Amino acid sequence: MRAQSKALLLIGDGMGDRPIAELGHRTPLEAAHTPCMDRLAREGECGLMDPIAPGIRAGSDTAHLALLGYDPYQVYTGRGPFEALGIGMEVRGGDVALRCNFSTVDENWRVIDRRAGRITQGTAELARAVNGVEIEGVQCFFKESVAHRGALLLRGEGLSARITDVDPHTEGEFVRECRPLDPQDEAAQRTARVVNAFVRLSYERLKEHPINRERVAQGLLPANIILPRGAGVAPHLEPFPQRHGVRAAAVVETGLIRGIARFVGMETRDAPGTTGGLDSDLMSMGHTLLQALQEYDFILCNVKAPDLCGHDGNPHQKVEVIERMDAMLRLVLESAEPNLYICLTADHSTPCSVRDHSGDPVPLVLWGPDLRGDEVQAFHERACMRGGLGRLRGSDLVPILTQLMGVQEKFGA
Ligand code: ZN
Ligand code: ZN
Repeated sequence: MRAQSKALLLIGDGMGDRPIAELGHRTPLEAAHTPCMDRLAREGECGLMDPIAPGIRAGSDTAHLALLGYDPYQVYTGRGPFEALGIGMEVRGGDVALRCNFSTVDENWRVIDRRAGRITQGTAELARAVNGVEIEGVQCFFKESVAHRGALLLRGEGLSARITDVDPHTEGEFVRECRPLDPQDEAAQRTARVVNAFVRLSYERLKEHPINRERVAQGLLPANIILPRGAGVAPHLEPFPQRHGVRAAAVVETGLIRGIARFVGMETRDAPGTTGGLDSDLMSMGHTLLQALQEYDFILCNVKAPDLCGHDGNPHQKVEVIERMDAMLRLVLESAEPNLYICLTADHSTPCSVRDHSGDPVPLVLWGPDLRGDEVQAFHERACMRGGLGRLRGSDLVPILTQLMGVQEKFGA
């Protein structure tokens, strides 16, 4: 089947919220002036969506997996692989990934500081010193993340994530030996040996590294070892384009969502001037979206800023970034082909009062040709309660879109 229409899944990260006294007991979406979002609501069908399930506080990673039609409870096997994806590492099905810290140990491997004096500089060079080694035929990739963090990715045959942490999680304790959870499990035994060898190698290569000599000379703690934890195995997934018979791409601005999109087999496009921050150029993103819509059938787009405002507890800024998203939407609507469906929603709520992700459902609008429509006149949490789509789960989205796009196989005769 060839797609008869196209679809844009536009996600305001953490856009859902709760009523806020400062905004006259309105949510940021209610308080914001959003003529284009409201037009979608007036002309389309609205609803509320539980990204994973009612009351579940979703992460951006698990929520996006659900929104793309993958069961996060099956796919999400520990944070390691998603940490690695988030910092732009290429992750393949079967890879074992671990979250890591650059840490400081004494010569007996007693942990002095798990965060190596909260190191912020020079970690890319330290990472290069240990990246790309091969141990027992297993390729070991290491990449730094922000500050003292990083990820270790193991690629090879017969690996398992059923291993213990090296990081003792407490200062003053000795570095732990990585062990298989089940002593009979050969894959886990081998993986544990590789991890232990990597930790030893990190100490040998980092303890006298010029960056660390310089740190010691300045009275700072050296980042003289890498301590892995939280092993997870990357699952084998059926790629999104094959599964649905569509050409799919993502226009995203954060490493995590880019990593997830690539992991499910979508291509990714970067818009110039997008930063994943509050200063991100959303009009540039809109232009990139329009270009991508020429070439692909299904586009995922994630705008990060609303989530940042929620974490900062800044409702006025959240109103402002929602209004900028509305302007980006205007650009898309002005040039949209008549066969385009737009689904605008959020991956979870990040209420300013909570300053973190909550389990509140998010508003959703579906807009495009031949929809039945409903009575909703505005796009926000309370208006969408009365919408024709009722209350959905994130995993309902892809079937709804693929049947409208005309690419879904019939279930039955
Ligand atoms: Zn998110
Ligand atoms: Zn967040």
